Amino acid sequence: TRIRPSSKRCAVIGGSGFLGRHLVERLVEKGYSVAVFDISQRYQVPGVTFHQGDLCDKQALLKVLKDVSLVFHCASPSPACDDRQLFWKVNVEGTRTVIQACQEAGVQKLILTSSASVVFEGTDIKNGKEDLPYAKRPIDYYTETKIHQEKVVLEACSKEKDFLTVAIRPHGIFGPRDPQLVPILVDTARKGKMKFIIGDGTNLVDFTYVENVVHGHILAAEHLKADSPLCGKAYHITNDEPIRF
Ligand code: NAD
Repeated sequence: TRIRPSSKRCAVIGGSGFLGRHLVERLVEKGYSVAVFDISQRYQVPGVTFHQGDLCDKQALLKVLKDVSLVFHCASPSPACDDRQLFWKVNVEGTRTVIQACQEAGVQKLILTSSASVVFEGTDIKNGKEDLPYAKRPIDYYTETKIHQEKVVLEACSKEKDFLTVAIRPHGIFGPRDPQLVPILVDTARKGKMKFIIGDGTNLVDFTYVENVVHGHILAAEHLKADSPLCGKAYHITNDEPIRF
């Protein structure tokens, strides 16, 4: 029989990123011991170990995951990168590798950062719930691979194998150190490119503050147990109110 690692030992794959770093900082505050696995290291936090590696490399993952009971997977190529092969390799095949490595290492819980766009068909969704079907025609290839990724993770959930999974679906994330959303908006406005309104000005879009997204991930991790309804499920994560855009 395997000796279970402490439930407070976790790894954050993609922990150098915008969301990942906020997650790491909150986990440390909550007394978790955290290992970051990422293709690049961009900061240092006392008590956090950094491991540089590609999540497509199972051996590299195994070294980090061997004493870990909980894994957060929030790594992805940037949606703006426009490299189909890379999206498939990292988000789908790489995520399969993450699951295999977790199972071989005896990890008990995997929390995936998915995306609300997995249910978006290009037409308005108001008060959408998690029972919406996956988009048949996803808005872009990044989203197509996020759909496959989420399915692979949720299907791997197995009480018999003592391996439980859940997916969190944020839409746009904003907050301190956001590298994309607000800087791009500000830049576009400064260039005078925001003079036109698409629609009648009542369009709504869902943005979530990064700390709420982090809170959702940690709640999911802490409530994911063999007898809980979370097993193998996806959850949208949002602020109270969508923002008029
Ligand atoms: P980010 O680009 O800031 O962070 C992603 C991290 O993943 C980076 O540090 C990068 O180095 C790492 N990474 C990429 N490929 C890797 C690989 N092959 N192996 C190991 N590490 C790798 O992105 P983010 O905004 O923090 O997004 C985190 C997650 O949240 C992603 O899964 C993304 O799809 C999802 N998401 C983000 C938003 C948003 O608005 N930012 C919205 C919905 C979903």
